[in-house]
Amino acid sequence: MTAPPVVSIQQVSKRFKGFTAVDGVDLDVRDGEIFALLGPNGAGKTTLISIVAGLLRATAGTVTVLGKDVVRDYRFTRRAIGLVPQELNFDPFLTVEETLRFQAGYFGLRLADARLEEILTALDLASKRGENTRALSGGMKRRLLIGKALVHEPKVLFLDEPTAGVDVELRRSLWAYVRTLRARGTTVVLTTHYLEEAEELADRVGVI
Ligand code: ADP
Ligand code: MG
Repeated sequence: MTAPPVVSIQQVSKRFKGFTAVDGVDLDVRDGEIFALLGPNGAGKTTLISIVAGLLRATAGTVTVLGKDVVRDYRFTRRAIGLVPQELNFDPFLTVEETLRFQAGYFGLRLADARLEEILTALDLASKRGENTRALSGGMKRRLLIGKALVHEPKVLFLDEPTAGVDVELRRSLWAYVRTLRARGTTVVLTTHYLEEAEELADRVGVI
């Protein structure tokens, strides 16, 4: 028996005024896979994952996460999802550690010290915990964004263009970390406009 899909997108469309950004997409993401959503700029990748993450409302169609509707059961589905956005979005007045603790607070959680250490170590940010986020390099900021998305231990992690504008070395280490997450049971969905990234990293690729 195959497990039910972790994310199920059925006939989803999104129109902005007269413009159709996403047009009747069907997609199932399987438990424990790395799925790449591949498409050029403007294809609707960010729009689609924003709908799954509950940041945008679909014009038509339904999305379920772990069997629950993302509109009706948004509290449940948001808890199940971690989203690493395309754009960096930090409070410039917080330190690395505060950024992670505040993020947990948004989910009504108190970040356990052990969990904090684990995230900082895995993302190679332990020595930067007391630094202001303004003082981080671009690569460190990108790693902290991933850390923020993981504080509530989501079942599914969405990475929107995780390596756009990232140097080769960081790209390699991010890919390795994505594989580690998958090995621990996290389902990963990433968007990319690099065919090479989709091919090398993903178990399955969907073209949009
Ligand atoms: P991708 O992430 O694949 O590059 P996006 O989902 O960001 O694509 O955008 C898909 C299309 O929808 C683009 O043409 C974009 O300009 C348009 N779009 C995205 N967000 C909005 C919005 N809030 N209002 C109007 N158009 C939008
Ligand atoms: Mg995008």
